[in-house]
Amino acid sequence: CGIIGYVGPRPSQDILISGLARLEYRGYDSAGIAVIDGDGSLGTRKRAGKLQVLRDDLAAHPLSDGTTGIGHTRWATHGGPTDANAHPHLADDDRLAVIHNGIIENFAELKSELVAEGHTFRSETDTEVAAVLLGREFAASGDLVEAFRATVSRLEGAFTLLALHRDQPGLVVGARRNSPLVIGLGDGENFLGSDVAAFVEHTRHALAIGQDEIVAITPQEVTVTDFSGDAVDVEPFEVVWDA
Ligand code: GLU
Repeated sequence: CGIIGYVGPRPSQDILISGLARLEYRGYDSAGIAVIDGDGSLGTRKRAGKLQVLRDDLAAHPLSDGTTGIGHTRWATHGGPTDANAHPHLADDDRLAVIHNGIIENFAELKSELVAEGHTFRSETDTEVAAVLLGREFAASGDLVEAFRATVSRLEGAFTLLALHRDQPGLVVGARRNSPLVIGLGDGENFLGSDVAAFVEHTRHALAIGQDEIVAITPQEVTVTDFSGDAVDVEPFEVVWDA
């Protein structure tokens, strides 16, 4: 299981796929990506099986050359390893996408609340609850960072969670609780990864994110806060890597 996020000037699809390839050593059963285009469309592709299945699918039917994207490899915990259960999970009329490593322990309770409100689900995952919740919060605030903060505050368990919304291209948000997430600092581009391996071929400059913190990356900026939105100190480090 692994996670990568990218914002910058370059088409993100190949960066996401090669980052996921570097995370393959962790094991997984499905893989998927979501990419926002410059014109604000959101494209996703997700497949059960090896990364090569996703690669072949993308080669046959390429996504846009969008420069904001997220990528995921899944190790199924809730719902079998199928295309439908693979990440990203979509919400807000398919305008936002979420990827997740970990387990959302209170997902059943949150799902009942959302179903009672009329929201529908397309997978058996715990993760889709976070996507639908984020869609509900985005509808209320119109701001991805604010909606993401409200969403993660409701989640219990372990998560590295990333999201993007097509109405805010050039932005990827992430959060971590009991699960790893690091920032890779580039020149006019930034990365998120569950592990430095996700972005080490692009930058060795990294920032550690603490427990229960949220990060927002744009091509020029990185902002880290706690779940209440208060700024926190982040620790820079250089990735040491022999490869
Ligand atoms: N619990 C989530 C799922 O089953 C995420 C699993 C993972 O860590 O990849 O889809």
